[in-house]
Amino acid sequence: MSTPAAHASRPPPAWYRPGTLADALAARAEWGRDLVAMAGCTDLMVGWNAGARRVPSVLDLSALAELRTIEPGPDAVTIGATMSCAGIAAHPVIAARLPMLAASARQTGSVAIQNRATLGGNIMNASPAADNPPVLLAYGARLTLASVRGARTIGYDAFHAGYKRTLAEADELLVSITIPFPPPGAIGYYRKVGTRRAQAISKIALAALVETSGAADGAVVRGARFGFASAGPVPLPAPALSRALHGMPLASIDAGRVAQALAADLSPMDDIRSTAAYRRSVAVNLVLAALQSARREVAQAAYTG
Ligand SMILES: Cc1cc2nc3c(=O)[nH]c(=O)nc-3n(C[C@H](O)[C@H](O)[C@H](O)COP(=O)(O)OP(=O)(O)OC[C@H]3O[C@@H](n4cnc5c(N)ncnc54)[C@H](O)[C@@H]3O)c2cc1C
Repeated sequence: MSTPAAHASRPPPAWYRPGTLADALAARAEWGRDLVAMAGCTDLMVGWNAGARRVPSVLDLSALAELRTIEPGPDAVTIGATMSCAGIAAHPVIAARLPMLAASARQTGSVAIQNRATLGGNIMNASPAADNPPVLLAYGARLTLASVRGARTIGYDAFHAGYKRTLAEADELLVSITIPFPPPGAIGYYRKVGTRRAQAISKIALAALVETSGAADGAVVRGARFGFASAGPVPLPAPALSRALHGMPLASIDAGRVAQALAADLSPMDDIRSTAAYRRSVAVNLVLAALQSARREVAQAAYTG
């Protein structure tokens, strides 16, 4: 898809709150990023208050009921881009089938923030430290973007083009996120490491989804997908780690193998919250903890029958 040249014959309105997605997309086609999409405003407001940006013309998405939905299907759930973290955490199908997403939504800031913060805003803000992206990577989520030219769906693992940059075009809006239900027996692990248990940006976070086959002690990794936050310039999958673990007996995976694979996957940095060395070392420990938890669950399943 190519983006039509924005022919802004008239200046964008200071505030536009369309009642339909079609009207929102028409405005986006006319003004592109000169009309800044606003969902819960919890990221935008911080930037405006800090004086980092002049308060721009705003495309307020809050009246678009069609984007504030959770639609479970037989194989996946589709979440509208402006569904709040609170709504996601409280949804019974998400709690039962996608518990890592319920957990990450519940750890996105305080309860007050969760009531306003949307999943789409968390993705589109494109912070490498955001809490929900690791889970979306581990579950293999897909994003649907729309413009007046039509809609397209892309894998979330290909969406981030660099620090704070995404593959979204200037005339597109994120409309929904589709998350497949994990296969039966797949084991999830999510852990955010921060200064406090709540209201802290992560020093590092991991979501993992591990599939195994075989009996308790001989269980073998059949597939493993990972998502990291605060481990590089964008939310990172760990394809080298996934490849390195494939076919390995769970019991035989050690820190050396994990560290070697992660050296290719992660590019953490020193910043005010932590150091690159700490992040590399804790990343290995988190993966080992995820595999340990998978071993426990496999053993438990064998025991209970
Ligand atoms: C006190 C505080 C604590 C926080 N704690 C956390 C935390 O623990 N973990 C965490 O991950 N985040 C945290 N945040 C950041 C923020 O709350 C989240 O990133 C939130 O999910 C952003 O969603 P929003 O709807 O408020 O986005 P907005 O601020 O409305 O928008 C964010 C960005 O996304 C774009 N955008 C929004 N929706 C769309 C769309 N549908 N299509 C295209 N572009 C769109 C906007 O243009 C903007 O660039 C915190 C923020 C505050 C103020």
